[in-house]
Amino acid sequence: MYFLGHMAWAYVWAVIAWALIPAAKRGGKLFVPAILMLGVLPDVDLLLGGLGVVHRTVTHSFFLWTVLFIPVFVILRFKAIPYFVAVVQHFAFGDFLMGKVMLFWPFSSKLVGLGFGMPSVVDVVLETAGLLFALIILLYIGDLKQLFSVNKRNVFMLLPLLALLTSAVFFLSHWSSIVSLAGYIVSSGLLVTLMLAHVILFVLIAISTVQGLRAFRRRAK
Ligand SMILES: [Zn+2]
Repeated sequence: MYFLGHMAWAYVWAVIAWALIPAAKRGGKLFVPAILMLGVLPDVDLLLGGLGVVHRTVTHSFFLWTVLFIPVFVILRFKAIPYFVAVVQHFAFGDFLMGKVMLFWPFSSKLVGLGFGMPSVVDVVLETAGLLFALIILLYIGDLKQLFSVNKRNVFMLLPLLALLTSAVFFLSHWSSIVSLAGYIVSSGLLVTLMLAHVILFVLIAISTVQGLRAFRRRAK
């Protein structure tokens, strides 16, 4: 999956997990910037190639994230569940469906997954459906209102914004020119859909970031 699907589904699955926790134990609202970042964090391995880390291996395993989350569970208890779900769905849902991942490292080095591929019809349908579900939930539970309000918490949306930009640069770096890339995109309805959905997510996150920055300006006055 692309960062679009990883982020959108991280939010959808995290909200579902949150809703399933007994109300007395789930705490307040989810911190959306953290959910979005956790949704793409396993792909940090794309930047660790120099250290010998192979994409979709160690950082795409249940074991690594369970170990990393032990202190989070100790501190936050039930409240940690949606954040854990946000990171696990990256490889157990998104990458498992579209590719093959080393889910059970270090116990098994077998790459498992359904391997629908990217961009395939299944991929594009799931990525855009994820965005649609995320938008509906954002509206329904009032998170969109919060993300678009002048609130210094929203400045943390700068992190998923930078993550999206990094993934765009990573993608663009494989093309010799914008013209050849544009030609490739418009050649397929799937790619046009993917690009438009990415733009919608990017604009949403950018607006929230700006609102966060405005809160600091207002405070400084
Ligand atoms: Zn991944």
